[in-house]
Amino acid sequence: MDLKNITVKELRTKLDNKEISAAEAASEFFAEIKKNDGKVLSYITVTEDEAKKNAEAAQKRIDAGNPAPLTGIPLAIKDNLCTDGIRTTCSSKMLGDFVPPYNATAIEKLNEQDYVILGKVSMDEFAMGGSTQTSAFAKTKNPYDTERVPGGSSGGSAAAVAAGFCAAALGSDTGGSIRQPSSFCGVTGLKPTYGRVSRYGLVAFASSLDQIGPIARTAEDCGIILNAIAGVDPKDATSKNVSFSDFNEKLGQSVSGMKIAIPKEFYGDAVDEEVRTAVTNAAHEYEKMGAKLVDCSISTLKYAVQAYYLISSAEAASNLSRYDGIKYGLRGEGHSFDEMIRDSRNRGFGAEVKRRILLGNYALSSGYYDAYYRKALALKQKIIEEYNAVFENADVILTPTAPSVAYKIGVQDNDPVKMYTADICTVTVNIAGLPAINTTCGYDKDGMPIGMSIVGRRFDEATIIQTADAFERTFSPVRCTL
Ligand code: GLN
Repeated sequence: MDLKNITVKELRTKLDNKEISAAEAASEFFAEIKKNDGKVLSYITVTEDEAKKNAEAAQKRIDAGNPAPLTGIPLAIKDNLCTDGIRTTCSSKMLGDFVPPYNATAIEKLNEQDYVILGKVSMDEFAMGGSTQTSAFAKTKNPYDTERVPGGSSGGSAAAVAAGFCAAALGSDTGGSIRQPSSFCGVTGLKPTYGRVSRYGLVAFASSLDQIGPIARTAEDCGIILNAIAGVDPKDATSKNVSFSDFNEKLGQSVSGMKIAIPKEFYGDAVDEEVRTAVTNAAHEYEKMGAKLVDCSISTLKYAVQAYYLISSAEAASNLSRYDGIKYGLRGEGHSFDEMIRDSRNRGFGAEVKRRILLGNYALSSGYYDAYYRKALALKQKIIEEYNAVFENADVILTPTAPSVAYKIGVQDNDPVKMYTADICTVTVNIAGLPAINTTCGYDKDGMPIGMSIVGRRFDEATIIQTADAFERTFSPVRCTL
C-alpha cells in the first residue's frame, strides 16, 4: 500500500478497518526512508526496534477496539525533543552522544496514545537557523528540488513529511522554525500559542519564544496532533491552563463573515513578487468564500528582526551555558578546569551557535544591557500592543510565511544578516506569543511551494485551523516526486 501522501486521518481509518496493520504501516515508511532518504537526508536516527515495540502495543489497542486518534500512527520527531533511551543530538556535536533518560512531555502524551516513532529528524544546530544547513550531521535537502534548502530549523521534519517518510512530524518554533520549513516544503505546520504545549524536555533555545508543534499534510492533521500534545504541565511553569476540547471543532464551518486582517508591512518590497501575488490571490479566495478583508498595520515590523535576535540570543546564551562538558555532552581536554570547559564549548558548538552566544552575552553585559536588551523588551511590548489592536477588528491575520520560496543551498552561507532578515514574516508571532499556521497557497514558476500564514488570537488555534482548512478544501497540492 502506498502511504506516501496519506493523511493521519486517512491512515486512522485504514488501521481501524484492518486494511493495514500498525507494523505494516511503519514498515512502509521505513522502506521509503531506505529508498529515498539518501537524497533528502532528513533522518539522523531511524528507530526500527522502537517502532516495532510501539506498533505491537498499538495493534493490541486497535484490536481491542479502543484506539486513540494517534494509535499506530508513524511520526518523525525533531531531534531536540528528548526521547527516553533514544539519542537526541539537537544536530550538534555537543549532544552527539546524548541519550536522554526521560521523555519530553509532548512525547509522553504521544506515547499515551501509542503512536509509533520512526526516528529523530534533522534540524539546524540547537534550532538556530532557517536552512537546516547548520546541522552537524544531516544537512537536509528540499524534496521538491534537492539543490535547495528545506528551510529550518525544523527542516528535517518538514522534508520528511513532504517526501512521504512519515505520516506527520513534530517540530519546534522559536522564530518561525515550524512555519518557514513547512512553507518551503509545501506542507502544513502549526505553531501553537506560547504556553499551549509543555516545553518540558524540549532542549531550550529561547525559553520565552520556544513552542512545540505539528507538521503534517493538512490543517486537520495538525489539529489531531495538537489535541494530543496540548495541555498544562506541572513540569513547565510557563504552560497555561486554558481548556480546550477539540482543535478541529470548527472544521468545515463557513468562513463567511470572518474578518481577515492584511497588515500592509508584510506585503512590501522585502517579499518576492511571486510570493506576494500568491498570498494576495489566497486572500481574494477567502473573499469569495464570504470573508471580509481588513487593512491594518504592524508598524513595528521594521524593528522585529533586531528585537528577535537580541531576545533570542540573550536567552540562548543563558540556556546554553549549561554545556560545560561536565554534566553531559561533549567533554573537551585541558590542564585546568577552565581550559577543559573552553575546549568542550569550542569543539562542541558550530559557528552559528557561537555567534548567538557571543551576541547574547554582549547584549546582556553591563553597559549594553540598557542599550540593547532592554530596548528589545520594550519593542516586545509594542509588538504585543499592535497585535492586540489588530485583533480588536479582525479574527485572523494573513501574511506570507517567508519572503521567498526555498533558495539554493549555499546562497546564504557566510551571510548571517541575510539569513536573519529572511525571518521577517515569522518572528513577531513568537514575540507576541500568538498561534499561527502555514499552509501552501501556490507554486512559483519553478514549481516550488509558496506558503501563507494565518495568525490567530492567543489560544484560538481552532479558528486558524478552520481558516487554513477552508483554503485547503479549495486547493490541490502538487506533491513532490523523488
Ligand atoms: N530562523 C530563526 C533563527 O534562526 C528561527 C529559528 C527557530 O524558530 N528555531 O533563530
